Amino acid sequence: MQKKHFTIPIFIPEMACPFRCIYCDQHKISGIKTIPSPNDVKAIIEKNLSTISKDNSEIEIGFFGGSFTGIPINDQQAYLKIAQPYIEQGIVNSIRLSTRPDYISIDILHFLQKFNVKIIELGAQSLDDEVLLLSKRGHTEADVKKASHLIKSHGFKLGLQMMIGLPGDTLEKTIATANKIVELSADNTRIYPCIVIKDTYLEELYIKGKYKALTIDESIDAMKNIIPIFEKANVNIIRIGLHPSKDLQGAAFVAGPYHSSLRELVETKLWEDKLKVYTENSENHQNITIFVSKKMYNPAIGYHAANRKTLEKKYRKVKFSIDYNLINREFYVHNH
Ligand code: SF4
Repeated sequence: MQKKHFTIPIFIPEMACPFRCIYCDQHKISGIKTIPSPNDVKAIIEKNLSTISKDNSEIEIGFFGGSFTGIPINDQQAYLKIAQPYIEQGIVNSIRLSTRPDYISIDILHFLQKFNVKIIELGAQSLDDEVLLLSKRGHTEADVKKASHLIKSHGFKLGLQMMIGLPGDTLEKTIATANKIVELSADNTRIYPCIVIKDTYLEELYIKGKYKALTIDESIDAMKNIIPIFEKANVNIIRIGLHPSKDLQGAAFVAGPYHSSLRELVETKLWEDKLKVYTENSENHQNITIFVSKKMYNPAIGYHAANRKTLEKKYRKVKFSIDYNLINREFYVHNH
């Protein structure tokens, strides 16, 4: 039986960033306003472990939010040390962390190896130098490539996060970034839309009319184009869209394609396209059954059953069924 995967998330917001990316206010994005002490980290781990069944589980501790490898080495060590007893006792399997591409070096990687870090995620955001410059990321495409090669060649799993709709970004550049992430042999990715958040430089640009945020439909269209690229290359898409937070759902949000169910909306659109031939041309069949893989049962039906409702306008009876022999997006249809 496949093991259930759990990540215990620990957010260390913006402790080490040398500059502020144009869109970033990590406190508002993550909803976390204080930097946890090593003792807080222990408490977070214990609290999470108490809710996870140990049977058939694979558990990892994830340090997210800022640029972990940029904080003073003693602080990194203190955080990582807290996690070690859990790994030594076999309670936790590994550690993952996120950082900036320009904060990776051979010395850092050797240090992380000693503390059982297995997965390193880089906030690449774009692999286009103009977009990176306009977004004030403070690193280049070459930095992402160099760091990615180092991470892979030292035996870590590589995550490359990307954003869509950054200043200077286009659909072509978004697609090119996805292809480059595949070429860099990323094991996983997260795809975030660029959102305008209060008190960021991007907000100033937006107010002056110098930045136009993507609409929800535009962001869905961009994601629809890149998801198949990752799926074809077996790059695991860990997340699509920002985690909901009170700030983002309230006063901190200014503009942009924020939606708490963005992944579901994108999946609905991907399946709408797949089922188009049946929604546009019913050939007078009365009933239709669509067989899909277990994983795709809900996505195929759609967000708020949108795809089923579209089909119901054409067919008397619409049924979605699971065929356990199907995988991923495979499907077939019975008209009767
Ligand atoms: S590197 Fe990440 S945490 Fe730091 S300023 Fe940029 S977006 Fe924010």
